[in-house]
Amino acid sequence: RSGGDFPLQVEGLRKEFGGITAVDDATFQVEAGSLTGLIGPNGAGKSTTFNCIAGVYTPTDGTVTFQGEDITGLEPYQIAQRGLVRTFQIARELDEMTVLENVMLAPRDQRGESLWRAVTPGVRGSVVEQEAAVRDRAWEMLEFFEIDHLAQEYAGNLSGGQRKLLEMARALMTDPEMVLLDEPLAGVNPSLENKLIDHIHDLRADGYTFLFVEHDMEVIMNNCDHIIVMHQGRVLTEGSAEEIRSNEEVIEAYLGE
Ligand code: ADP
Ligand code: MG
Repeated sequence: RSGGDFPLQVEGLRKEFGGITAVDDATFQVEAGSLTGLIGPNGAGKSTTFNCIAGVYTPTDGTVTFQGEDITGLEPYQIAQRGLVRTFQIARELDEMTVLENVMLAPRDQRGESLWRAVTPGVRGSVVEQEAAVRDRAWEMLEFFEIDHLAQEYAGNLSGGQRKLLEMARALMTDPEMVLLDEPLAGVNPSLENKLIDHIHDLRADGYTFLFVEHDMEVIMNNCDHIIVMHQGRVLTEGSAEEIRSNEEVIEAYLGE
């Protein structure tokens, strides 16, 4: 692969839990504006890699570079401030809040108010003016994900798929450069699944970059322009859907599940 620029670079990534090596010397990069898929059988190390990139785990070894800056070991909110966000499962306590409140709170609950500035860079005014700007952005997100009719609904009353849309809306509040998605379609019914995928394609057409972690090979094959395959903590291979589909090692890795 050449020609593009690669905002995310993972080099020699390693993560051990006690005696278990979850990620073992993984090296790959993600091209700007791409929808890159990270697949592999259960236990391959996908979620651990994701969490090392997002700052949830500190890698045992290796580096994560985002837009030329070494972000290895930074806190998730620091990484989010640099424009790299992940979707979060909505915590139980947020079930008691409305959908609108959930989206408005999103840039805040990662730590303090540091991310509110990312939502309201031009707003130097009072707290009331800042809140108005955050509210406007929140409505924009709800409309984009077509959940604005649910704005006053409690998050706890949403279906599995609507929750996933809300998680995406929350992640996008700070207008990031790149979004990390860990199994965003888990528990989503087929009609909403297509809607979610359409939204991802629309955002990508707007210039956002995605790393899409998913166990289901077909979803990745049908939607991603570049695919990285992990197996037993390592990067087994990478390439286009056609290249991955016909790769014997990939077929074997999935059969061995
Ligand atoms: P995937 O997301 O590809 O299914 P994971 O990254 O969740 O794989 O897990 C990779 C390996 O690391 C598995 O063997 C798993 O049991 C182990 N693992 C993941 N997280 C932990 C943890 N917090 N403590 C111990 N072992 C873990
Ligand atoms: Mg996983």
